[in-house]
Amino acid sequence: MSEFLLRSRRVVRPEGVGPAALRILGGRIVEVIAGNASAAAADVPVTDVGDSVVMPGLVDTHVHVNEPGRAEWEGFATATRAAAAGGVTTLLDMPLNSRPPTTSREAFHTKVEAAAGRIFVDVGFWGGLVGDNGGELLPLSAAGVFGFKAFLSPSGVPEFPEVSEEVLRGAMANLGNIRLLVHAEWPPHLRPWQGEPRRHAGHLAARPRAAENEAIVRVVRLCRETRTPVHILHLSSAEALETIARAKAEGLPVTAETCPHYLFFAAEEIADGATEFKCAPPIRERENRERLWAALGEGVLDMIVSDHSPSPPELKHRESGDFARAWGGISSLGLTLSAAWTAASGRGFTPGDLSRWMCAAPAKFAGLAHGKGTIAAGKYADLVVWNPEASWTVDPARLHTRHPLTPYAGRELKGVVEATYLKGEKIYAGGEFLSRARGEILLSG
Ligand SMILES: [Zn+2]
Repeated sequence: MSEFLLRSRRVVRPEGVGPAALRILGGRIVEVIAGNASAAAADVPVTDVGDSVVMPGLVDTHVHVNEPGRAEWEGFATATRAAAAGGVTTLLDMPLNSRPPTTSREAFHTKVEAAAGRIFVDVGFWGGLVGDNGGELLPLSAAGVFGFKAFLSPSGVPEFPEVSEEVLRGAMANLGNIRLLVHAEWPPHLRPWQGEPRRHAGHLAARPRAAENEAIVRVVRLCRETRTPVHILHLSSAEALETIARAKAEGLPVTAETCPHYLFFAAEEIADGATEFKCAPPIRERENRERLWAALGEGVLDMIVSDHSPSPPELKHRESGDFARAWGGISSLGLTLSAAWTAASGRGFTPGDLSRWMCAAPAKFAGLAHGKGTIAAGKYADLVVWNPEASWTVDPARLHTRHPLTPYAGRELKGVVEATYLKGEKIYAGGEFLSRARGEILLSG
C-alpha cells in the first residue's frame, strides 16, 4: 500500500479550517498533522495542493440511479462517474425508480448485482416501504439496506405506491431504530393542474406549501408515538420549519434535508416551458428560499443532498414545455458542491459549513460516520480537493450523467473540483477519470 502526505493551507476538519498534512496509508488517514510545519517523514511522498481546500468527499444520501429496469434514465456507471467528478465519494441509492424497486430481498440482490463492478464511488441502498411489504422490512434491513423510504402521495411510478398514514404507523411501530425516510406531501392538499401548462406557477399551485406542512405535522406525530427515527426528504416549504424545530427541541429523532435546487433557484425566475426545473415538492419563491438558508444556519435543516432524479429528455417534454405532463425530477449529480457553494458563499457561509451539511451530517444520518464524512485519523481517505475562488460555466455536453438536461446548464458556478480521492486513491483529477470502477457496495450495520 502506498503511503503519502496530502498537504494544504485549507484542510476542513471538525476543529476548523487551516493548514494541515494528512498522512494516508492503506486507504485511510492515519495521522493529521496540523499547522504549517512540514512533516518530518522525509521518505514519504508529499502532494501539496497549496491553497486548494481539502474536504471530506461528499456523502449524497439521496440519489435515484434507476438501474436496473430504467437504466436508460441513468445508471450505476454514469451516475458514479458524475459523482466522482463532483467530489461525491459515497452515494445512497433510492429504492425507486429502478425496476424492480428495492422493496424485497430478491430485488435488493438484483440491484446489488447491477451495481457490482461498475461503480466509481461507494454505493449503498435504501429500501422501500410500499403497502404490502411490511414482512420484508426487517429481513431487508438485516440484508444491508440503510433504512426505508415511503411516500404519502403518489410517487410517479406505478410499482412504488404511496402508503396511508395507518400503514406508516404500523411500519414505524415495527422498525424500532431503523430509519424511515418520508416524501412528505399530504394528498388532500394537492390540487389538480389548472391553467396554462407551460407555466411553473401552475405546478406551484398544484403542490402548495400546505401539503408539505400538513404531512410533516403528521409524520412528527407518528415519531412522537413510536420514537422511530424519521427523516424529512427534500424539504421545500419554509412554513414546515417551525414543526421540525419544535420536534427537535422536544428531543424527537427527526432529521431533515433540503436540496441545492431549493437553495439556488427561485420560482419567480423559472421561464415558461423550462421543465428541467420541475420537481416535487416544487422550487418555491425567493422569500421561501432565504428561510431555508436561515434554517441551515440554525441547524433546523441538517443536510444538503442532491435528490438527483433524471429522466430521458422526452419525458421532460422540453419541446412542448408542458409542466403538467413533464417528469418531476432534477438532474444535478456532480454539480451539487459548486451549486451549494455558489449560493452559500454569497450568504457568508464557509467551506466548514458546507462540509457539515454535505459530508458530516449525511454520513452520520446514514450510520457511516465511523469511516466517512469528516477528516480525522482513522477515517477513510475519501477526499475532495477544490478551489472555492475559481468559477466555471456548466456545459451540459461535458457532464457525465446519462442525459445532459439540467437546470444548471449555462450557469456560472463558483467552486471547481480539482481532484477526488476514494480510499486514498486519486480517482478523478482535472476532468479525467484515473481509476477503474473501484467503488464498494456498502451494507448497513
Ligand atoms: Zn428523490
